[in-house]
Amino acid sequence: MEAAFGPSPLPAPEPARPGVRILSVVGTRPQLIKAAALGPALRARHEEIFVDTGQHWDDDLAGVFFAELGLPRPDVSLGIGGGTASEQVGRMLLALDAVLAERRPDVVLVYGDTNSTLAGALAAAQRGLPLAHVEAGLRSFDRSMPEEINRVVTDHLARWCFAPTETAVANLAREGIREGVLLVGDVLQDLAARTIPEIRDPAVLAEIGRRLLGGGAALAPGGYLFATVHRAANRSPEAMRRWLGLLAAVGQPERPVVLPLHPGTRAAIEAAGFVIPDLVVVVPPVGYRTSLALQLHAAAVLTDSGGVQREAAWLGVPCLVLRETTEWREAVEGSRGRLVVVGLDARRAVAELERLAPPDRVPLEATERAARLDLRPAGAAEAIARALAGGEA
Ligand code: UDP
Repeated sequence: MEAAFGPSPLPAPEPARPGVRILSVVGTRPQLIKAAALGPALRARHEEIFVDTGQHWDDDLAGVFFAELGLPRPDVSLGIGGGTASEQVGRMLLALDAVLAERRPDVVLVYGDTNSTLAGALAAAQRGLPLAHVEAGLRSFDRSMPEEINRVVTDHLARWCFAPTETAVANLAREGIREGVLLVGDVLQDLAARTIPEIRDPAVLAEIGRRLLGGGAALAPGGYLFATVHRAANRSPEAMRRWLGLLAAVGQPERPVVLPLHPGTRAAIEAAGFVIPDLVVVVPPVGYRTSLALQLHAAAVLTDSGGVQREAAWLGVPCLVLRETTEWREAVEGSRGRLVVVGLDARRAVAELERLAPPDRVPLEATERAARLDLRPAGAAEAIARALAGGEA
């Protein structure tokens, strides 16, 4: 279980003013993290009814974030996890409909692209309630991804599409969605900027190393690679064979791969009977600050996560994306070649790491990077809270 570094400093509350009653729906790890980013700004102006579907029920993926990120206790916990996507969405839809009937919010707010997002969007639409979508407009143009279906449907139902990037705005326009679209920036950037002072000092690695790796092992700046893998597409036996091989190829005795393993990925690996390669150190999923700290001080990050790839880009850490494509074009373009989509190609990954993170230069670079880092908040949380107050867009 994750030990917190202490609560993040929250912005001072603004004087109360008439706001709206917002029912926000969360359910998964990235949604809890985004809710922590947006929540303080939202609650400074509005009344929030906080609903947790329970899509992620594992303590490592959900419970730990409530304490660590200072999230309010959910007003309603639906406890709906497990089952197929359709079963989940069906059960959530029924339960959310009853919650909406009882709580009568002015607005329903959903985040991202999960089953909880889709269920929240459909429930709001069926009740004729205005829907706000945070992280609208992302597209992989791959409808075999469950997330892509959830995003497309949610954006088309939303009254407010809060887009994090210009590409997202353009994607929406291409689908005819122009009304109610606001380019607000990325709430995850707001949270990362707020958190950096707590993780900048590489001394945090000593505590993290003790907690995750136990007595003897140590983590040094630039002395390890940080990896996460959780997408459905990377849980097929063929994909797992390839990315486990890739991690084996990039791990070195003096530079192991630290892999906080998502329980869904762990179950898929066990079911397929794969063995974790040597030099890949599996640890349980970590809390948000630990994830950000492990990224900041790593030699490089390897991930299929949407959140982790842009966090790595903001932190200036070399990052290999273990997918064939990315929705985060701006992050790639702004990275000056340090965020690279490599798919599951081990040879490419090794070559990119030789270019981006040569072992002789990395420890010094990692130390300097952490000391120099100056990440500004995007102001997304404030912009969203303001728009919902004023009916902007
Ligand atoms: N994250 C975390 N612990 C971990 C792995 C990731 O707190 O063990 C954080 C990460 O820093 C980012 C968010 O989870 O803020 C990304 O969520 P995830 O990768 O589950 O979903 P995605 O972003 O792909 O939707």
